[in-house]
Amino acid sequence: MKRIVFCGFRGTGKTEIGKIVAARTALPFIDTDVLIEQQTGRSIPDIFHEDGEERFREEEQKVIAGLPKSNAVISTGGGVVTDPVNMEHLRRDSVIIVLHAGIDTIEARLSRKPRPPLTGLPLREEVAEMMERRQQHYQAAADFCIETSETTPEAAAAAVMGLLSHGSIPEKNRAPCISFFRSGRIPQKCMERLEKVLSDNPPDPLTRLMGVAGYPCAHSKGPFLFNALFAEYGLDYHYTWFDDPRPDKILSMARHLDVKGLSVTIPFKQEIIPLIDEIDEHAAQQIGAVNTVIFSCGTARGYNTDWIGVRKPLAGLKGSKAVLLGAGGAAAGAAFALTDLDMDVTILNRTPEKAKELAEQFGCRWGGLPDFDTVRPDVVVNATPLGMKPGDTSPLRDDQLHRGMTVFDLVYTPPVTPLIKAARKAGCTIITGTEMFIGQAKEQFSLFFGIDVPAEKIRKLLP
Ligand code: NAP
Repeated sequence: MKRIVFCGFRGTGKTEIGKIVAARTALPFIDTDVLIEQQTGRSIPDIFHEDGEERFREEEQKVIAGLPKSNAVISTGGGVVTDPVNMEHLRRDSVIIVLHAGIDTIEARLSRKPRPPLTGLPLREEVAEMMERRQQHYQAAADFCIETSETTPEAAAAAVMGLLSHGSIPEKNRAPCISFFRSGRIPQKCMERLEKVLSDNPPDPLTRLMGVAGYPCAHSKGPFLFNALFAEYGLDYHYTWFDDPRPDKILSMARHLDVKGLSVTIPFKQEIIPLIDEIDEHAAQQIGAVNTVIFSCGTARGYNTDWIGVRKPLAGLKGSKAVLLGAGGAAAGAAFALTDLDMDVTILNRTPEKAKELAEQFGCRWGGLPDFDTVRPDVVVNATPLGMKPGDTSPLRDDQLHRGMTVFDLVYTPPVTPLIKAARKAGCTIITGTEMFIGQAKEQFSLFFGIDVPAEKIRKLLP
């Protein structure tokens, strides 16, 4: 048994269902809203009215940080999931069950209760707006999700009890799915752990799977990083390699095994889009590539975090003149990041027509690689794979690099490429592909779990 935490919008049944689960598990029941009222000596609507939401969130954070670490059933307030510090506390050695209900059900349930003013809108509009705003946070918070619209609290509690006993991977899927991973490319020790998670009698049925999807991707160090982060934050997950040439097969396997999320790598970042249910309209749709898929309440939703890994290290160089070398998937994310930083961008590629296509998508200039000398950029981003293979040369001549230039090589294996070596020698400011990897992994972890990992922690845990 673990600490059981209920999250979800107001009116989804956290308190009622939580109390039944507490009785059935013989664990103490804690309602964080009640603790806040006890701690402040005021009702929650009064705190909102008199001091506003920010003050309420401060009190809530104190209560969450002070919750007992021992086993208990905890019901939380609807907005608790929006705070990464709360999520770090709530997640540790616990199972988070997010309750979900449709807007009609929530409206009917809330119209019978006093409520703190969150937006000043009429009830139904407020519920719609808040649900939309918090959807991504609930998705990140959920170890498991239970629908409560059409069920009684007793039935929902019974579903929770079933989940706690058997987990969410159907027994009939366990043994047949293990053969998918027996390619021989997964390291022996990792395979042993995976076999335990998928055995008919798993040591902990609540352990959920995640992984990197690509082909080939067995060289990816992602599983080592993510598994180290899971240990660090007390998360009951195991991250492995979905190394298969068929992206549709990978997705059906992920659904059969109730996977929480996938990191998507070459060559599936574009191919995966028609195979998932929704894609984030902010970045993934504009970039046309997905590197993160999250499965939540039966929906697979795609995101792109690569561009954030490019944007962050360059954030201080807004408005610069930039050259982007390459016009593939990584270049599309980089073009989005550079234009988001209001840079004057020229895309140069071995095949100039592809540079033209990408440039038209993002309103940039374009050309072939020999056009570099006509641009005189302040920032150079290499999004070609040149530098990865032994014997590769730098994509630029030494005399094209000079002091004052910032050179960002997205290639991260090896960490120091011929371009980085030459740029360092020329006195340029250098940014290695490791920075992009750290930036995109940090954002991905936040999308997966709602926790904000310090970049330095990722750097330390990198294999
Ligand atoms: P991609 O879609 O295959 O695109 C590769 C691009 O590089 C194409 O524009 C291609 O030009 C060009 N190119 C390939 N070989 C070349 C050569 N020998 N000389 C000149 N140009 C060449 O690959 P991608 O997904 O964009 O990945 C590119 C690189 O980004 C990879 O090496 C990867 O390591 C790096 N990356 C790093 C991270 C990170 O976290 N640091 C994340 C993602 C990707 P054509 O159009 O002419 O074929």
